[in-house]
Amino acid sequence: MNYISTRDKSVKVTAAKAIAQGISNEGGLFVPDSFPSFTKNDFDKLCEMDYKGRAKYVLKFFLNDFTDEEINYCVEGAYTGSFDNEQPAPISLIGENANILELWHGPTCAFKDLALQLLPYLLTTSAKKVNDGKKSVILVATSGDTGKAALEGFKDVENTEIIVFYPSEGVSPMQKLQMDSQKGENVHVCAIKGNFDDAQTGVKKIFTDNAVKEKLAENNMLFSSANSINWGRLAPQIVYYVSAYCDLLKREGDYLKNGFNIVVPTGNFGNILAAYYAKKMGVPVNKLICASNSNNVLTDFIRTGKYDRNRAFYTTVSPSMDILISSNLERMLFELCGNNDKEVSSMQAQLSNEGTFTVSDEIKNGIDKLFWAGCCDDAKTVATIGKYFNEYGYLCDTHTAVAMNVYEQYVKETGEDIPTVIASTASPYKFAKSVLSAVTEKQAETEFDNVRLLSELTSTEIPEPIKALENATVRFNEVCEKQDMLKSVYNALNIK
Ligand SMILES: *Cc1c(COP(=O)(O)O)cnc(C)c1O
Repeated sequence: MNYISTRDKSVKVTAAKAIAQGISNEGGLFVPDSFPSFTKNDFDKLCEMDYKGRAKYVLKFFLNDFTDEEINYCVEGAYTGSFDNEQPAPISLIGENANILELWHGPTCAFKDLALQLLPYLLTTSAKKVNDGKKSVILVATSGDTGKAALEGFKDVENTEIIVFYPSEGVSPMQKLQMDSQKGENVHVCAIKGNFDDAQTGVKKIFTDNAVKEKLAENNMLFSSANSINWGRLAPQIVYYVSAYCDLLKREGDYLKNGFNIVVPTGNFGNILAAYYAKKMGVPVNKLICASNSNNVLTDFIRTGKYDRNRAFYTTVSPSMDILISSNLERMLFELCGNNDKEVSSMQAQLSNEGTFTVSDEIKNGIDKLFWAGCCDDAKTVATIGKYFNEYGYLCDTHTAVAMNVYEQYVKETGEDIPTVIASTASPYKFAKSVLSAVTEKQAETEFDNVRLLSELTSTEIPEPIKALENATVRFNEVCEKQDMLKSVYNALNIK
């Protein structure tokens, strides 16, 4: 298996190169040129394994230039002792069919830990193979959760520096504190005056600027990415969908006889893309249900075939989905048009020049077969949290609530009520204030008082990483203009 670029498929690299480099030179994203297809025999074997075993089994196909020892080292390092649960991705069943896949038991209480605990291992192993000892500089744009998860994964990792940009007004107080108090000698955090798309566009621009690359090379450094444009982020996400399938199979053999649906609260399209890849590999997924908040650019796109980012941007109670340019959609488009790199380049050029593009009938038909989409505003999000807490005693966060709400919309509109996996992407304690407002009219003075109140009222445990934050020291308070991001990068790296 090699990796090709979505914008020029003559670019062909190894997994190590794709991961170390992050993005292809002409701006395309790396995708595997083939996928394994798992048979019943594979799934029988996978069912007998624990999470780490499943991860090794799946990753081996995508990292075929890694030795077994290397894969072992990476997976054991990532998933041993870093999650508060024996199983990093447990399932809670609500009613008959809603299987909540809890992906937030890691060190930063968001699903991104599943990938970002592993990525530093994948990246340093890859860099040893392809980077001639150059230091890897990880640039991250974050809508809140990626930043912290990446910082936690990369802190004090040898021969790396990590620089995180987040929108100064666009993250929750807990997310901000998590990042601003990050420990480690190689970490840098900077807020920007702008939204997530500004941060992401800025990072992409710095990445692909040849003059900047040369300057780094002179200093024996090289960029890489911890955003979900990096294949090393996506591969670990495929694992938990495969693993969820195995867990459901084991729970009740016949339960999935008609397949199942997956609902994903979506922002950058990485998590739902991983679910699609799992389906492509043989996991019997019927519909991939894409759930958005009021920034519903993907709902409109999936329903109409027209992507249009020229619209109002909303700051919502589910900030990690406040995104109008979903970078991983590019990989999905590449799939849907039969790996036509020219067509993808043209759509991406239109998106960057005009903010909009419309897909061909071929792509639209593919979308209709695979996807369903819905969206949900803040009021409904909060109401959904309240409803599931009152009816089932299950407390979910704002992002997961968007998914739950859209799941209900799907069942209502299609009449199809089959087993469904709902990706639960964050701990409710990361968004304590909004979650609290769903279960009581009381609000406390401070964020941490809200956290304690939430715990008292719902009899749920405060995750340790959230508790520890209360006494954390703020280390970073830089705010920069969006056009000054490069300056911040050079500062952080001590490059003149
Ligand atoms: C990042 C994030 C999302 C969106 O995931 P994508 O892979 O970007 O679509 C949803 N919920 C939470 C809590 C997140 O942190």
